[in-house]
Amino acid sequence: MIAIAKPYLTETDAQSAYDTIMTGWITQGPRVAEFEEKFAAYVGSKYAVALSNCTTALHLAMIVAGIKEGDEVICPSMSYIATANCIKYVGATPVFAEIIPETFNMDVKHAETLITSKTKAILIVHQIGLPADIDAFKALCNKHNLQLIEDAACAIGSSYKGNKIGSHSDLVCFSFHPRKVITTGDGGMIATNNEAFYNRLKLLRQHGMSVSDRVRHGSSTVIFEDHLEVGYNYRLTDIQAAVGIKQLEKLDWIVSERKKVAKRYNEELKSINCLRLPAEAEGYSTNWQSYCVYLKPESPVKRNELMQLLLDKGISSRRGIMTSHRETAYKNEGGNYHLPVSENACDNSIILPLFVPMEDKDITTVINTLKEILSH
Ligand SMILES: *Cc1c(COP(=O)(O)O)cnc(C)c1O
Repeated sequence: MIAIAKPYLTETDAQSAYDTIMTGWITQGPRVAEFEEKFAAYVGSKYAVALSNCTTALHLAMIVAGIKEGDEVICPSMSYIATANCIKYVGATPVFAEIIPETFNMDVKHAETLITSKTKAILIVHQIGLPADIDAFKALCNKHNLQLIEDAACAIGSSYKGNKIGSHSDLVCFSFHPRKVITTGDGGMIATNNEAFYNRLKLLRQHGMSVSDRVRHGSSTVIFEDHLEVGYNYRLTDIQAAVGIKQLEKLDWIVSERKKVAKRYNEELKSINCLRLPAEAEGYSTNWQSYCVYLKPESPVKRNELMQLLLDKGISSRRGIMTSHRETAYKNEGGNYHLPVSENACDNSIILPLFVPMEDKDITTVINTLKEILSH
């Protein structure tokens, strides 16, 4: 069986977790602080705040951006459902924009048509690692006085116009779920250059507490904490951060290995006329979190049939990125959505196996099997 994805975990990650456990300090503490510093240095942001996952990161991003009940936030429907859900958490309404078929990224022109007096923010998603056109969305946000938020759950190690994702705006949310390029089991991070956001995020992730456990613990005088606002427990543990530090050290290598697999797919699948391969335009560099192909209408088999035929040959695949507006949680709200481009892209795309290390013979099997099924 060829898997769809696998985390790249080694003994150094396990040793790091072990060493941290043996120090006796296992919740948010020195390892989290070290992970944050190294993460910020890697992506090129002033600050980074570690959180329990990307969904909680997105929730806190909404709060510090001041999004409230009655507000609207524009985002793509075509994304993992956490993108839309985080807008709901603060009582606001996700307003779904279309995507560009070639990149699966949000269409800035369609997004602009959805702006109303209630719109407060635009939440862009770097789909499966490929950066959205950040500058175009920044310009749109500046023009209409909106907050830009980036769902970069899949985009650690990707870059846009020569700079790493995480360096371009003030609320960039990452995930370390095992399905992403580096992992801490579960985990998240917000990169920001905004000091006020940074300070408030640190409060909100631990119950609004004015003094951290670590500071109180290390103090030679008695300190009492105050709770400055209603916060949450969205902490990452030091055990997870210890793994994250080691994963971060491997990130550039992991991305370079992923690029090699993608390069073979790009070169050897382009002869299949009914496939549209992923686009990586000048200035956009993806970490290849996933390799997603679109099946054109002339394909001899439909997407679901193709997935079954691959499975019969021992090859796992997944449907392309989901659409949120057709999930039961959103469908039943009676929203009048007309998103034909997103629906078509979702229904006819398929994610192929890509992980590190992936053996050449397995890549060859995927390529040859696709050729057998699709080249007539
Ligand atoms: C994975 C993912 C999330 C959620 O991340 P978690 O860390 O699992 O909460 C959010 N948005 C997108 C686009 C994702 O792919």
